[in-house]
Amino acid sequence: MSKINLGILGGGQLGSMLATAAKKLNVQTIIYCDDENAPAQKFADDFILGDYNDENKITEFVNKVNVVTYEFENIPFNTLEFINKHKQVLPKPNINQVIQNRFSEKNFINNLGIKTTDYVIIKNLKDLNNNLNFLPGILKTTTLGYDGKGQFRLNNKNEIDKQKIDFNNQYILEKIINLKKEISVIITRFKNQTYEIYEPIENTHKDQILKFSEIPAKISSEILNLSTEWAKKISEELDYVGTLCVEYFIDENDNLYVNEIAPRVHNSGHLTINSHNVSQFENHIRAVCALDKLETKKIYNAKMINLIGEDITEYRNKKVKENEFFFDYQKKEIKPKRKMGHFTTIIKIR
Ligand code: ADP
Ligand code: MG
Repeated sequence: MSKINLGILGGGQLGSMLATAAKKLNVQTIIYCDDENAPAQKFADDFILGDYNDENKITEFVNKVNVVTYEFENIPFNTLEFINKHKQVLPKPNINQVIQNRFSEKNFINNLGIKTTDYVIIKNLKDLNNNLNFLPGILKTTTLGYDGKGQFRLNNKNEIDKQKIDFNNQYILEKIINLKKEISVIITRFKNQTYEIYEPIENTHKDQILKFSEIPAKISSEILNLSTEWAKKISEELDYVGTLCVEYFIDENDNLYVNEIAPRVHNSGHLTINSHNVSQFENHIRAVCALDKLETKKIYNAKMINLIGEDITEYRNKKVKENEFFFDYQKKEIKPKRKMGHFTTIIKIR
């Protein structure tokens, strides 16, 4: 069989880890990214630098690949649609369209009978002042937010005036939940409607950025079952192909809410590279390239630390033990709040 050429839109660390997993499966990868320093080019077979709206460059990319996937959700929908006319894009473009807007994403989830936080669309200051019953709340841009970017925490009416809110953007206002825990469930769905699902991962955020992930999550069996069921339901309903992550909140009364969906591999699943026989990256490649599905099994428990900004320096000089794995994303510059690498420790299952 001739080799599969997989196109990946986006060239960050998720692209790097996808490319690494693909190599193992004998799949060639071509990264398309608008950043000339995109770290994933060091891990992939080929790289095209171009704007996500540049039809000529995108056509050059399309001509080189058999199938296309993406490693971040903020690619223009028109670009995904354009590519999909020539080569299959997986997950399907319309999935990305629903999920890349927080309002349509939350409407979709609620329409499935799955709980999210209470939310309302905010288009201007008047809308905000008419919805003070949502305070204390978090105002989030409907599009393009990540790692807490584009968010304003509003405790009371006075704080509205103090914050410089740019109403050229649309927002949702979400009630704040008293969080007991955050977990995520990662699922890979295949073309023949089968799937592999990972057990819930417990996540700790600092300054709205993921800091630690750990399995097993310390949660009740009810939460374990419900979070797993909801992830299956969401992926079924989307007729999803590839790896998807559902982020959850658990409040002080053990209520479960979907926070958001990532239509891609996810930071909380990096530990699956070392904890499982098949990682979230490998499963994604297998699903979108229609390769065999392997039964996915946990081999170790694990804990992952995200190395953010200057954290990386210390780890670059650290001696790594046998049960530890250090991933350096090889980004050109260290910047505060930038994800620079991660560090996973595996732990024997008792
Ligand atoms: P992003 O798209 O930037 O990841 P999220 O909506 O996931 O944005 O928010 C980032 C983090 O902020 C969450 O993981 C959680 O820790 C905190 N957070 C967000 N919304 C709420 C909320 N309604 N109540 C409590 N904490 C929240
Ligand atoms: Mg999030």
